[in-house]
Amino acid sequence: MRKTYLDNNATTPLHPKVLEAMLPFYKELYGNPSSIHHFGREVSGAIADARHKAADLLGCDVSELYFTSGGTEADNLAVIGTAFANSEKGKHVITSPIEHHAVLEACHFLEKQGYEVTYLPVDSKGFVDPDELKKAIRKDTTVVSIMHINNETGVVQDIPALAKIAKESGVYFHTDAVQSAGKVPINLKEFGVDMLSASAHKINGPKGTGLIYIKKGTRIQRLAHGGSHESGMRAGTENVAGMIGMVKALEISCEMMDSELEKYGRYSSKLWDGLNEKLSDIVLNGPADERRLKNTLNISFKGIESEAILLNLDMLGIGVASGSACSSGSTEPSHVMLAMGVKPEIARGSVRISFGKFTTDEDIEYTLEQLPPVIERLRKMSPVA
Ligand SMILES: *Cc1c(COP(=O)(O)O)cnc(C)c1O
Repeated sequence: MRKTYLDNNATTPLHPKVLEAMLPFYKELYGNPSSIHHFGREVSGAIADARHKAADLLGCDVSELYFTSGGTEADNLAVIGTAFANSEKGKHVITSPIEHHAVLEACHFLEKQGYEVTYLPVDSKGFVDPDELKKAIRKDTTVVSIMHINNETGVVQDIPALAKIAKESGVYFHTDAVQSAGKVPINLKEFGVDMLSASAHKINGPKGTGLIYIKKGTRIQRLAHGGSHESGMRAGTENVAGMIGMVKALEISCEMMDSELEKYGRYSSKLWDGLNEKLSDIVLNGPADERRLKNTLNISFKGIESEAILLNLDMLGIGVASGSACSSGSTEPSHVMLAMGVKPEIARGSVRISFGKFTTDEDIEYTLEQLPPVIERLRKMSPVA
């Protein structure tokens, strides 16, 4: 059976060149980077080189990048670390209801600690209105966290505009860029954020590694206590191969960015137009224009539950997601769809198709062949159709 992986927003396959870059650090280069003998120095030198490379690619100073265990840790550090470190100023935090659970649950944790969180509304396409942010900022607000590109819909927020508003009020601004770093151009010199989270495994790097940009001068408290690793920001002996893999993945992604973006645009149009020719009553969740990263197509098929579509496609070798991967298995509609005001019965039929570097024309053609008959069959069986 043909294997067709269209769930690249959940994770991506490791790029062979990334694996190749990582392997020496699982073999001969095993020294502890904190050791001062040559075994350690070789490794700390490699980490320093990788950090420089990442700083070049993202347009920041090398001292502003810290490696983490992934996007989740970076998000927790940004939100909780700044809220804790600035609590004399106040205990108010602002975010959006369409954030990844890594930010939402960090906010829920803060609520349990006596902090207050404002969840800005989003419109029907999933956009946060900069005016709503302006209205929500108070004297006791310390940090705003709004994601760059949403993992379920691909909607791209206007981060520079939102960050500017926070900056004008002297409030820290964090963005979860896990779905954007390496996929779209980001230059931290112009982006205007104080903190940015990225993850390796969403861009063909290893799972369990990520990084956070923290602008010089940001008041933030570390979460992991211990040694003085990562300039004291994150204790723990370095995941050396992971760090090397993270930066290699970022490098390869940046090199391929233009051609990938062009490819995603083509695949998105081909699949969406093709499905519309063959099926009625399908809805695109999120914007259709350039304010959506075209690697993501979130489609609702009216009258059917997404789980049924998922299982049927799985039997044909096609891997897609319903809602977000974290909440699959439950029949609850996704929190992102609900925040956008999508009716629960439409949200329940939403399927996320996400392309990556290894997606091919054949994958799109095969999906276009297999998906419509699945929908037609399920609609015939479904009592609501
Ligand atoms: C996957 C993801 C995360 C979590 O990153 P991990 O590296 O898996 O911890 C955070 N935010 C977004 C938007 C994601 O897609």
